[in-house]
Amino acid sequence: MKTVIVTGGSRGIGAAIVKKLARSGCDVVLNYNQSEQKAKEIQNELQKEKIDIEIYKADVSKREEVKKLIEFTLEKFKKIDVLINNAGIDQVKPFIDITDDDWNNMMQVNLNSVFYCTQEVLTTMIQRKSGCIINISSIWGITGASCEVHYSVAKAGIDGLTKALAKELGPSNIRVNSVAPGAIMTDMNKNLTKKEIEQINQEIPLERFGSPEEIARCVEWLVEDTYTTGQVISPNGGWLI
Ligand code: NAP
Repeated sequence: MKTVIVTGGSRGIGAAIVKKLARSGCDVVLNYNQSEQKAKEIQNELQKEKIDIEIYKADVSKREEVKKLIEFTLEKFKKIDVLINNAGIDQVKPFIDITDDDWNNMMQVNLNSVFYCTQEVLTTMIQRKSGCIINISSIWGITGASCEVHYSVAKAGIDGLTKALAKELGPSNIRVNSVAPGAIMTDMNKNLTKKEIEQINQEIPLERFGSPEEIARCVEWLVEDTYTTGQVISPNGGWLI
């Protein structure tokens, strides 16, 4: 049975990943930060299907909290097979208005969290010569988003980490990949107007937003796979080809 940590598993894409992997037989630790109630609801929903998951509060932008998340997981399950770095925030702002705090917060939550979580799980993965790390980046890390420069930079940084680390960790039998979603219907897009959603739909060859479950399916495939590493896979409905 694989042990999996999903950061930011309380809502949206992370919640769909938690459910899919738990239902496929993995031992899952759902990490959350603010949405304790939502995390408990997911735990209860799975419990009704006789599936147990652990939930653990940690702000993954803080190294000390990440250390505790990893210690908790190792105490419970003795090993960590898969880390899914999913936690993230976005912010829409013209570049000229981005403050130092905006910039630093974006990097801290979206990029440094990946550095912390990945580094902290690696001791056990390297010892066991086995592991799978999946980073949820974004289409905007590949192509760049207007008025989301800091978000785009953080996500491009994640993809850079994925490629470099895959080369470094290949000999340790640890795979590192990015999943870079296009437009997915979650709270992150809740401020879009109906008109904006229609405009985006017109730009996407499949003519619609993706669902969190569709991203979870891609992640599940990567967890099962054995020969893919250093790749940025972008389920985006053909929005970027
Ligand atoms: P979401 O619905 O807003 O959920 C964000 C999740 O991240 C929540 O579970 C939240 O947990 C968690 N989180 C945020 N800051 C955290 C922190 N400091 N520590 C721990 N957890 C934290 O967003 P989403 O759309 O599912 O996004 C998930 C990932 O996919 C993000 O990395 C995002 O950038 C990426 N993505 C999303 C889209 C899209 O269109 N939705 C497209 C491309 C990429 P709490 O609520 O418990 O704090």
